[in-house]
Amino acid sequence: MTGSLRGWNCPGIALLLIGLAVGVPCMADDEYQGPRQRMLDEIQATVTRTQLHTGRQRLSARVMEAIASVPRHEFVPQELRDLAYANRPLPIGHGQTISQPYIVALMTELAGLQPDDVVLEIGTGSGYQAAVLATLVRQVYTIEIIPDLGQRAVTDLSRLGYANVQVRIGDGYHGWPEHAPYDAILVTAAPDRIPAPLLEQLRPGGRLVVPVGPPDQTQSLKLLRKDEGGLLQEEDVLPVGFVPLTGAH
Ligand code: SAM
Repeated sequence: MTGSLRGWNCPGIALLLIGLAVGVPCMADDEYQGPRQRMLDEIQATVTRTQLHTGRQRLSARVMEAIASVPRHEFVPQELRDLAYANRPLPIGHGQTISQPYIVALMTELAGLQPDDVVLEIGTGSGYQAAVLATLVRQVYTIEIIPDLGQRAVTDLSRLGYANVQVRIGDGYHGWPEHAPYDAILVTAAPDRIPAPLLEQLRPGGRLVVPVGPPDQTQSLKLLRKDEGGLLQEEDVLPVGFVPLTGAH
């Protein structure tokens, strides 16, 4: 489903009607417009502050527009909605978090996405990152190990009209071989080492974005590029702190 069909930006009456028909919110009477703009400003300020690490001065307009288009308040617990557009992670239950908006934006940028791409995300959590990806690519597959979170994400993504996202409950360490190869893979929980199945499921020319390191210590957000010959190039982009990739793999 396209961004406009979700009715989120609601540029005109026709889209407003479509938006109402599928029961989704509309920017025109959106009480979160101010907070969302402040969040975008905060993301840019953080990009500037971290540019010595990342080597990136700005994020692309396409990524910033995707972030602007997704109603983050729909992905956080009701009692935390007032904080939905703060540039910080928030608890979503089961000891897990919705990632900091700056990190979501940076990981999306690093993935270098094209409109026809097929993307795999490991760690669905709230479904927010999957929604951002869904506005940018053809198809998103996402895996969550905690059934309650995965089921909630299915409900929220469907309610909001993100029809090009499929959620699977399971251990994302093994990837989702049935839909491979992927143009990009994003991992939003930190493994000790890069899972070999994810490297195998990456298309030549594809990108893997993954935080790597031990739990409760600083990890390194890595960007791996697989060239057309299958050779991998690795870049350490930023020190980060993610929840661990769990599972019995
Ligand atoms: N991307 C999420 C979002 O937008 O809300 C945030 C993800 S949260 C930082 C990390 C998620 O990874 C948690 O929901 C956690 O349960 C999940 N996770 C941890 N280990 C996993 C595994 N082996 N396979 C799939 N999901 C896993």
